[in-house]
Amino acid sequence: MNDVPSTPSPAVIPRPKRGEGQWELGYREPLNANEQAKKDDDALNVRARIENIYSRRGFASIDPSDLRGRMRWWGLYTQRRPGFDGGKTATLEPWELDDEFFMMRVRSDGALLGVDQLRTLGEVSETYARGTADVTDRSNIQYHWIRIEDVPAIWERLESVGLETQEACGDSPRPFLGSPVAGIAKDELIDGSEALAEIKRRFIGNPDFSNLPRKFKTALTGHPSHDVAPEVNDVSFVGTVHPEHGPGFDLWVGGGLSTNPMLAQKLGVWIPLEEVADAWEGVASIFRDYGYRRLRSRARLKFLVADWGVETFREVLETRYLGRALVSNPSPEVPTRQGDHIGVHEQKDGRFYVGVAPVAGRVDGSTLVGLADVVERYGAAGARLTAYQKIVVLGVEPADVEALVADLDAIGLSARPSNWRRSTMACTGLEFCKLAIVETKARAADLVDVLEQRFPELDVPITVNVNGCPNACARTQVADIGLKGQLVMDSDGRQVEGFQVHLGGALGLGANFGRKLRAHKVTSTGLDDYITNVVGAFLADRRDGESFAA
Ligand code: SF4
Repeated sequence: MNDVPSTPSPAVIPRPKRGEGQWELGYREPLNANEQAKKDDDALNVRARIENIYSRRGFASIDPSDLRGRMRWWGLYTQRRPGFDGGKTATLEPWELDDEFFMMRVRSDGALLGVDQLRTLGEVSETYARGTADVTDRSNIQYHWIRIEDVPAIWERLESVGLETQEACGDSPRPFLGSPVAGIAKDELIDGSEALAEIKRRFIGNPDFSNLPRKFKTALTGHPSHDVAPEVNDVSFVGTVHPEHGPGFDLWVGGGLSTNPMLAQKLGVWIPLEEVADAWEGVASIFRDYGYRRLRSRARLKFLVADWGVETFREVLETRYLGRALVSNPSPEVPTRQGDHIGVHEQKDGRFYVGVAPVAGRVDGSTLVGLADVVERYGAAGARLTAYQKIVVLGVEPADVEALVADLDAIGLSARPSNWRRSTMACTGLEFCKLAIVETKARAADLVDVLEQRFPELDVPITVNVNGCPNACARTQVADIGLKGQLVMDSDGRQVEGFQVHLGGALGLGANFGRKLRAHKVTSTGLDDYITNVVGAFLADRRDGESFAA
């Protein structure tokens, strides 16, 4: 480490002309209802009310400020009432779409899920969630149809195997993305698993970080394929090798999508493994203390980073939070495309890992129980969830690989999927999400079927991300073909479900946002033919080796 720099002059902190609700600049009084609710009661406290009151007295007993706010800190959102189409999303308040059932997210945080955990996840789905279970692109398992009466029993089951829902939603440190192949990949630069576990141990459920301006997304990978979408997280640690100090992490801050997409910016510093948790604490503290709290639409770290610039951000991090200068480092090489780990790959210990693709992240309880059975049958190490709605089974003996692949295929988890199944993601959409305008999961599954028939062989990957509204939970802007749900006009002039298309987005080398062409709007029913035409035109015109985004 370099010498500790002197304390910065206060002038280093930019002061916006208009107060943005930044705590450290003296704005401690809440400027909106969300901030007021968080001030009224630490959202983590809602657990006791769920256990002692709401689960016993039923849905009607839930205090509205808990129902529409604090319950998120325990991974619970009300789901959309059936029968309300996408047109109602714009005309009704979200609470008018509340169903009496909940969506529940279970964090995995890049950790290895063993047989007991996978089986428990499946059994909870079958017992309490009508069999629903989605693998999200933040490597959660997401249930639906949860009754408030069952929540304490679900927590008991999950926590008995070390799983939790704490801060899976809300203005908090959301579930972490970790490399699915941490500790086992032959080409890994550094295994960051311990650092992620330490961040979780120290800061999840810690009241010092349970009232952030808004959500705070973390990604960490030591794999050269940057397999955790670091460009679109609030804070990312990306494996690199310093010429003098060796393996460590580059620190990126301020990425995020939604309606004002920004790519994370590199601070150009090298963080050793044992200091990752401290650096995370520093960045999260800057967000808590200086993040904008006046408008929800500007309350993400990306706006602060954009306004301050990376030099100021680094200076504040070093001087006010870490008390030392960080080691400068050129940023790591960026892969041409981020790794999804699908298929069969040899590990550094001679065993194998197998990446499999459910369709658009949709599995169910019986699939998860079946996955537990397969892992147990072959004595594999376990499974991890990925940032691409996929599953990777780790620690498979060479002699077992083909039998395991066949058994996974038999439960709908393909290790040798088509491009379309491999490269299509979808958010929750109209089926359960109150903000949705458009159906997504089933639409994506139908799209995959059609494209597999029309383009069975494809020698370049093409990614399709299907989103039910502008919030971009399935990363609209960084897919080759990104789809943002909205109402569009059909040929008869009627408003129907459809998509604004973004073309040519990418992560990895040349990371950028897809072009949003005004004319490229398509009805949901016309989507198959639209994508067929786009892909057909690309294949007809491309030069040798040209990718879709080029
Ligand atoms: Fe819901 Fe919109 Fe997010 Fe999809 S993108 S899950 S519709 S908020």
